[in-house]
Amino acid sequence: MDRSPLYDTFARAPLAFARGEGCWLETTDGDRYLDFSSGVAVNSLGHAHPKLVEVLSDQAGKLWHVSNLFRIPEQEKLGQLLCDASFADKVFFGNSGAEAVECAIKTARRYHFVSGHPERRRIITFAGAFHGRTLAALAATGNAKYLEGFGPTPDGFDQIPVVDDLKAVEAAIGPETAAILIEPIQGEGGVRLIGGPFLRELRALADRHGLLLIFDEVQTGIGRTGKFFAHEWSGVTPDIMAVAKGIGSGFPLGACLATAEAAKGMTAGTHGSTFGGNPLACAVGAAVVETVGAPEFLDHVRRMGLYFKQRLAGIVDAHPGVVSEVRGEGLLVGVRCVLPVGDVIAAMRGEKLLGVAAGDNVVRLIPPLIVTETEIDEAIARFDKALAALTPVRAG
Ligand SMILES: *Cc1c(COP(=O)(O)O)cnc(C)c1O
Repeated sequence: MDRSPLYDTFARAPLAFARGEGCWLETTDGDRYLDFSSGVAVNSLGHAHPKLVEVLSDQAGKLWHVSNLFRIPEQEKLGQLLCDASFADKVFFGNSGAEAVECAIKTARRYHFVSGHPERRRIITFAGAFHGRTLAALAATGNAKYLEGFGPTPDGFDQIPVVDDLKAVEAAIGPETAAILIEPIQGEGGVRLIGGPFLRELRALADRHGLLLIFDEVQTGIGRTGKFFAHEWSGVTPDIMAVAKGIGSGFPLGACLATAEAAKGMTAGTHGSTFGGNPLACAVGAAVVETVGAPEFLDHVRRMGLYFKQRLAGIVDAHPGVVSEVRGEGLLVGVRCVLPVGDVIAAMRGEKLLGVAAGDNVVRLIPPLIVTETEIDEAIARFDKALAALTPVRAG
């Protein structure tokens, strides 16, 4: 009988870690693993980053929590940093990606409500999306597997079956449409890049129909793709954006960013969070944003991303029948597998290299953004060995 006190919601690998440093993790048994999972694109500055340890320890000795009944200088500082680094004028802080998405949805609907269009409450979303596990975020995600058995799905979401189908988006727009919600790169969906031209078309459609454009950059934001936000690659700016994962480098933190116009309905009492934007989280978040936002740092991410993809292309060529394609931007990299992705990840674990499965039979290789060329070389050597140990599917 399973005696674990924990919910059985996760299929956990039989590994437990005791400490980490940079891109490395050490198990409770003293084995060292090269971490190209980053806690699912979270540990942007790696493990136990000296600056973050210092900032967190310093803040821990001063003040942890006061609630949003009061001004929080650390929250104001981080809010200003995020606005200075983006299209946004206003920020709301929560503790996770799903909460950031919830706030984005509420902000969009409330904008139309105070603009005299309470009927505009429907959000257009895309197949293959992932927006989180709260009920509304799941309704936006639209994945039947995640919704089954959880009762009525919140209404108000219209999913486009094929991403990139502009005609279908246009056809889905009606008098009740409030916004379009999309990830610039679908992370959980399998590192699927959404083209800049399509994002520009969505921006134009939104403008033409008075809709708000929402980007979910929970996974792609904060330097992961080599720009501070992934949408910068396309030159398209949203009205509202959800951010989380990498922003705390492991400290739980999420944020919803918006223009002043888009956020105009979010007045006193309309939304809240007990823990959101607490001094500990925001002190760490500010240190992360200042570090990642430096031009040299983003240069580094772009250079490492290019180098990694080049090296991976060679590996993919060497193992047809096991893996088939490399894709991604910056250090959000996916390798499409021919064999089941679970087998590839298990083989990688055998070589003490960690990655993360995604949709479309893709393994994500998402190292901390501080990864070095030497560590990429080491990951490539381990990945090569792992793939060599698998029996390829023979070309028919
Ligand atoms: C991970 C993720 C979420 C959900 O974040 P949680 O912190 O798990 O709630 C939402 N959107 C995207 C794009 C994500 O990758």
